[in-house]
Amino acid sequence: MENGTGNARSSPDQRAATERIDEARASGVRLIESLRRLWDGVVEASEQANIDDEHDPEGATVAFERAQLRDVLKQAHADMDDLDRAAERLRTGDYWVCDICGGPIAVERLAARPTATTCIRCAR
Ligand SMILES: [Zn+2]
Repeated sequence: MENGTGNARSSPDQRAATERIDEARASGVRLIESLRRLWDGVVEASEQANIDDEHDPEGATVAFERAQLRDVLKQAHADMDDLDRAAERLRTGDYWVCDICGGPIAVERLAARPTATTCIRCAR
């Protein structure tokens, strides 16, 4: 049963959101770890091969792989930052409130996108 105030979220929603964010953080940590291993592997391989990034076609491939990995790693870190912010918003109660209009963010939206900071209307 809803209590009707719409202010403080009922704890099942809060718990579910906390679990989702914790899960996303845990898999984010795993992703970053495996990306780091990949990164080390690529760097090591290019060092062993003593590749000239500029002129060797092999080197160009390695440089491309590195650039790609760097982008993915950067994105993974940005996602972790978003999750940290979401966790903080959960603690303060702002999690359920739209950053732009101050209205409520639908529980379904936050279930689909745990790091959402705006309601669906403002996101459009
Ligand atoms: Zn809004």
